[in-house]
Formats: sequence, C-alpha cells, structure tokens
Amino acid sequence: MAGEPRADCLFCKIVAGEVPATIVKESEAALAFRDINPQAPTHVLVIPRAHYPDAASLATAAPELAAEVLRLAGDIAADEKIVDPGYRVVFNTGPGAGQTVFHAHAHVLGGRGLEWPPG
Ligand code: 5GP
Repeated sequence: MAGEPRADCLFCKIVAGEVPATIVKESEAALAFRDINPQAPTHVLVIPRAHYPDAASLATAAPELAAEVLRLAGDIAADEKIVDPGYRVVFNTGPGAGQTVFHAHAHVLGGRGLEWPPG
C-alpha cells in the first residue's frame, strides 16, 4: 500500500534504524542524513519516513508530506550556511536521470560552485 515501509528499500531501513546513517535533522514525518558519497561539501538527503518511490508519487499521494520534505531541505540549507551564495535541491526521477534508490529523496547540495546545466 502507498506509504507503507518496504522490506527491500534501503531508505526504509535507514528510517527503521536497521542501516546506520548520519542524521542531521528530523521531524515527525521526515528525516535528513548525510549522503554516503557526497558530491559537494554539503550533501544531505531529505526523505519522507513513509515510502513513496519518487517525488511525483509523493506529491500526488501526500502533498503536505512533500511540502515537509522541502521545508526540511530549506532548514538544512540554513543550518549548513549554504543559502548564500546558493544551493541546489534535486529529485532525480527515474534511472535515466540517475535515480538509484526508489524511495523519494531530495538531494541538498551546496558549499561549492554549482554548474548549470547539470550533467
Ligand atoms: P539517487 O541516485 O537515487 O538520486 O540518490 C541516492 C543517493 O543515496 C546517492 O547519492 C547515494 O550516494 C546515496 N546512498 C546510497 N546508499 C547509501 C547509504 O547506505 N547511506 C547513505 N547515507 N546514502 C546512501
């Protein structure tokens, strides 16, 4: 069922505490932790605790939860002091765009210059 934890999902295991992660912030419905393979000085992943496979399905099924993920991403940027000069919030969606974990997550990236367009 939509939102239910999945036994085969890495990020559901992080939510359950079965896989360790460096948690930087959490709320009742969402969790933020450092990416294991950082692509910038700040690289934090923000996820809903509930399982949705990608950002679009999250936003459709639980718009208030999608908003919570974005709010937490903004809080992370402020905490990490990357608001100025700027940072990026990315939802890779689909294998062709680089999505490898099919539990919705926002990448919060900053602390270095960020090129546009991204690769
Ligand atoms: P995606 O490629 O799906 O957009 O992002 C998945 C992210 O999860 C990648 O940036 C990857 O480095 C990160 N990742 C994969 N496995 C782990 C893990 O076990 N712990 C943490 N903290 N991050 C992970």
